[in-house]
Amino acid sequence: MDGAGQEFPFEPPVPGGAVEVAPGVLWMRVPLPMRPDHVNVYALGDGDGWTVIDTGLDTKTCRAAWDVLLAGPLEGRPVRRVVVTHHHPDHIGLAGWFQARGAELWTTRTAWLFARMHSLDVQERPTAETLAFWRGAGMETGVLAERAAGRPMNYADIVAPMPLGFRRVAQGEEVTLGGRRWRVEIGHGHAPEHATLWGVGHDLVIAGDQILPGITPNLGVYATEPDADPVGDWLASCRRLRAFARDGQLTLPGHRRPFLGVAGRLEALIADAEAAQQRLWDALAEPRTAAACFDALYGRAIGPAEYGLALVEAVGHVNHLRATGRAERVAGPDGEWLWRRV
Ligand SMILES: [Zn+2]
Repeated sequence: MDGAGQEFPFEPPVPGGAVEVAPGVLWMRVPLPMRPDHVNVYALGDGDGWTVIDTGLDTKTCRAAWDVLLAGPLEGRPVRRVVVTHHHPDHIGLAGWFQARGAELWTTRTAWLFARMHSLDVQERPTAETLAFWRGAGMETGVLAERAAGRPMNYADIVAPMPLGFRRVAQGEEVTLGGRRWRVEIGHGHAPEHATLWGVGHDLVIAGDQILPGITPNLGVYATEPDADPVGDWLASCRRLRAFARDGQLTLPGHRRPFLGVAGRLEALIADAEAAQQRLWDALAEPRTAAACFDALYGRAIGPAEYGLALVEAVGHVNHLRATGRAERVAGPDGEWLWRRV
């Protein structure tokens, strides 16, 4: 099995277009101003309307992209329901916009709570806790000073206001969407309580960012929970979800292309994370900050655009070594945390 996930043998949809990946299931893309430069969204034909999976950001560009999709491939029929896989802005950003137009929001309880919490938490400067966290992680002093002085990207800048009220999707429940049955399986690590949907009596899997082809989902730690172990959470989810993989399933991810071979993909992702842990353990013969682990983890230069994500993921990896008893964390002289292997 190809460990990168065998890509579905169709080209991605053109802007404003859709590819029908299964009868009544449309794959579309909404552009993002970062890498990956798109988020996949899906529409399931539901009677006279649609169920939409994930949304893109609340930006002019994403809304304009939806206006074209709604008038084009969605034929002006109403979006009755939006299912959001997790609370990250590229997935939930326009949920409130759809709700304001009459759609119901379905997501996990934690995703909804996180989204509401972050949208109501607007900061003009990074909080003291965030600065302490960045310092702890070993952020370069120049980057730290620049960030401390500027307005951070706020969640509410790119996520539409979310009204009160949603429909919870819960672990193990079966739902009917687009005329098909699906079982909800909750994953963790990339985001807490990330919904995935596994076809019951059919071979489609809606994976969001829990399982991606070609790239590893970002497994970040933030000031909200500095000791979190997202790598451990995510590995546990990969192993659990592996049991539901069958030949013939077509997995619909949040980025890149739909792919076949979800079992092989999960195994490759687990193996990659374990190999990264080993490289990190080797590097931690000398005490290091998380920021000083980029070489060991990524083996390539990290540019300014990806520095933030690389840093929170590096903390994820050292935290996992610590959670599994293979490393310890000691305080450095300037508020930074140093990890060393044990
Ligand atoms: Zn995403």
